[in-house]
Amino acid sequence: MAIKIKKRCIYCRQVLRENGTCQNPNCVRYTPPKDETEKNDKEQQA
Ligand SMILES: [Zn+2]
Repeated sequence: MAIKIKKRCIYCRQVLRENGTCQNPNCVRYTPPKDETEKNDKEQQA
């Protein structure tokens, strides 16, 4: 009965990452990804 509810940012309503960080660059709670930052900081969403 495990229903996974995607956590959303309380500010921008964007679905948070698995680690609970916001992935919306325009959001005040935005946290840049660790691994992808040095490579590509643009395309994060398919
Ligand atoms: Zn946000």
